Amino acid sequence: MKKHFQNQRKVTSFQTLQYRYDQNCRLCGSERISSALKLQDTPLEDQFLKVPTFQPTFPLELALCENCGYLHLPYIISPEASYSDYMYVSGVTVGLRNHYDAYAEEIVTNYNIPKGSLIVDLGSNDGSMLASFKRIGMQVQGVEPATATAKLANDNGLQTINDFFTDNVATQIIQEYGMAQVVTANYVYANIDDVISFTKAVVKLLSPSGIFVVETGYHPEQMNINMFDYIYHEHFSYFTVEVLKNLFSKCSLELIRATKTTPKGGSIQLVCQPSEKQKTVADSVEKLISDEYRLGMRNIETYHHFGKKIQNIKNNLLDFLKNIKSKGEKIIGFGASHSTTTLMYHFELAPYLDFLVDDNQLKHGTFSPGHHIPVHPSSRLYEENPAHVLVLAWQHQKTILEKHSSLIKKGFKFILPLPEFRIV
Ligand SMILES: [Zn+2]
Repeated sequence: MKKHFQNQRKVTSFQTLQYRYDQNCRLCGSERISSALKLQDTPLEDQFLKVPTFQPTFPLELALCENCGYLHLPYIISPEASYSDYMYVSGVTVGLRNHYDAYAEEIVTNYNIPKGSLIVDLGSNDGSMLASFKRIGMQVQGVEPATATAKLANDNGLQTINDFFTDNVATQIIQEYGMAQVVTANYVYANIDDVISFTKAVVKLLSPSGIFVVETGYHPEQMNINMFDYIYHEHFSYFTVEVLKNLFSKCSLELIRATKTTPKGGSIQLVCQPSEKQKTVADSVEKLISDEYRLGMRNIETYHHFGKKIQNIKNNLLDFLKNIKSKGEKIIGFGASHSTTTLMYHFELAPYLDFLVDDNQLKHGTFSPGHHIPVHPSSRLYEENPAHVLVLAWQHQKTILEKHSSLIKKGFKFILPLPEFRIV
């Protein structure tokens, strides 16, 4: 993980947080890097504080490698700093348990994985994915760098190593349990700085007859719904199938299947096998790559156009919020997560918000990163006179509007900033 810090143009130390700027593409080494989308500087997006203290902000930008098409953050904050305060727990994300149950069942059936096989989940969080594999008779092992979530998994009987996944951790698992038949990495692959070393360690852990399954956000789909707030400092890579296929190939893996899935505004599931295996590559791989070319994912203009679209939405939303505030009315933000911090900073929403509410109890009683806006339970809305609720967690708008529909009858108005600005 340290290797790429040699690649830096500049390292800044600020309150023990370090960041660097990569002049070269982290995947192919090319210097042909172009700025694709520049957002407002933000603090670490998920550092909601118990006690408000000053938090530095860092550049947040997307860059495109004109050589290999890799879309990525060129400014990288040291991963140890980012993960120290990790609060996300996948078990509380609506709908993921059902998604993981179906996922585990499909992989085991489709790839004839025998009962009792070792399944290793990397970035296993609270063990939601492990639990799905365990329910269908597999031996499971997790690896999770965040201490509190790893402990939660172990307490629930889902064996988890509390560490970053490295070559050493792969060796440790092999020595104790042998090689893995399936290795999974869900919503973690894009958050790895040195993804090539990580993938090589996966290959070491993987049985020659095994498969590696990755699920990650799919930015062509996410861009399509104007979802720019999935860009944050812990999210280093914005993958296309083409880039992933080449990345796997560098690590002696062959991409044999790519499937679009629904979580997080658009995701992709990829199945790979060691390259020397008999190859059967699904048509989906080349089909998705040709779609990516058609959508202009290799063209810098596509991202500049995206930036302009976002700017128009911001202007319209701010005009509306200014008008509400000039009448002295309250505006309450709904949502407190990585993505809401990006949205609040890039759209410069903080001056308009009286407080935030969220359903995740880990966030209650905290203050938002940088602006230190207090976060309360969503029940707090019911103690208020009718007000405007700005749905920062707009990806969950359906769930939020259904749960709180009685507020609309009481005269509350819900403002949806994206995919298009509208009022309910
Ligand atoms: Zn490149």
